[in-house]
Amino acid sequence: MTTEDLKSKIRDINDFPSKGIVFKDLTTLIKDGEALHYMSRQLADLYRDKGVTKVVGIESRGFIGGSILAYELGCGFVPARKPGKLPAVTIKKAYAKEYGVDTIELHSDAIDENDVVVLHDDLLATGGTMAACYDLVKSMNPKKIYINFIVELEMLHGRENLPADCEVTSLLKFK
Ligand code: AMP
Repeated sequence: MTTEDLKSKIRDINDFPSKGIVFKDLTTLIKDGEALHYMSRQLADLYRDKGVTKVVGIESRGFIGGSILAYELGCGFVPARKPGKLPAVTIKKAYAKEYGVDTIELHSDAIDENDVVVLHDDLLATGGTMAACYDLVKSMNPKKIYINFIVELEMLHGRENLPADCEVTSLLKFK
């Protein structure tokens, strides 16, 4: 198994969820046990020696890879959720997406200054979602923040919207 094999298992859906968007459907990758296992190990290998204490996964597709990554690293998992879903006190931020506008929320006690955090989402498009998540987590003053994606759509230059001083990794790059 190689990362090219993983790429070949991702399905393109044209005009979903709106016209002009080519949606990268990862369900065709993660339904394959061998591919899911390989992807999980590859993601975790990027962070094994970095002292990560928490992975923040962005709702909802970021919960899949984020949980796997946390499990593989033996660290905690923190859900970054859509508005109104988290039961305790939250902090929130609105942001623009490749399609539409959204808001992201975190429990205000989810992260502290002793944490080394990986922010994870399934896919980097314009970077708006991750930039909002970064701002929220940064406001909690963790020791260090890393950013990780399974897929990066390079032609959208989303990295340019992410903090320059933050290490950003993606497993599968599409031109
Ligand atoms: P962005 O904020 O533009 O980087 O958008 C990233 C978020 O939107 C991720 O949570 C993705 O799940 C989703 N997303 C945006 N564009 C796509 C796409 N072309 N295919 C699949 N998911 C996408």
